[in-house]
Amino acid sequence: MATTDPATVDARELVATACRVLAAAGQDDLIWGHVSSRDSQGRGVWLKSAEWGLSEITADRVHLVDEEGSVLEGGGTRHSEYPIHTEIMNARPDVGAVVHTHPPYSVALAATGQSLRPVSHAANYFVPPEVPRFTATADLILTRDLGRSLARELGDASAIFLVNHGIVAVGATVQEAAVAAVVLEQACKQQLLTHSAGGWPSWSPPQESLAKREHIYGPRAMSAVWDYLVRQLPG
Ligand SMILES: [Zn+2]
Repeated sequence: MATTDPATVDARELVATACRVLAAAGQDDLIWGHVSSRDSQGRGVWLKSAEWGLSEITADRVHLVDEEGSVLEGGGTRHSEYPIHTEIMNARPDVGAVVHTHPPYSVALAATGQSLRPVSHAANYFVPPEVPRFTATADLILTRDLGRSLARELGDASAIFLVNHGIVAVGATVQEAAVAAVVLEQACKQQLLTHSAGGWPSWSPPQESLAKREHIYGPRAMSAVWDYLVRQLPG
């Protein structure tokens, strides 16, 4: 039966909007990539369903999945990588939303083996500390064990590179996780551009990075960036 609980409706709408925002930001990869929001009643996560591109997601293509992978509410096929979402949420009570995408610049930068460096504003959202790298496998995260080891590698960070695969970005809210994923891709693009130009790249030292994080990526700005991204969506 379809739910009428406002928190649930809101979670589905938010996940769907975040999927479209990420697609519009260049993070769509055919039918791959997914976004989730923690269920307010502790039953699991509201997750984009499989076999649709991020740009095609509406609230009815978001379903409720528990930590065993059962679809409790809603229809459609479940993404096989659901443990990314459920196990990170289990490990991180502060996380309310998880994004997993295959953004081209982030995948390319992680594959070079270089650390993310704050060569422009964007990377200061994440660095310091270093953005962690998950290298146990570049294959799909299909089991709860792999989900747990990904969550361990993520630690307290707000994003992680799944080397030769993609990224995960997390946030307290769907809005924050989605904006973090967009900013991470922007940072990686800027770094690749910097390195491709040769010369002697420079970047902010840690103290300046922390100051810039506070000055540029405060909660109010993050929320305004989300609103901006939503306004840019095709009508
Ligand atoms: Zn993936």
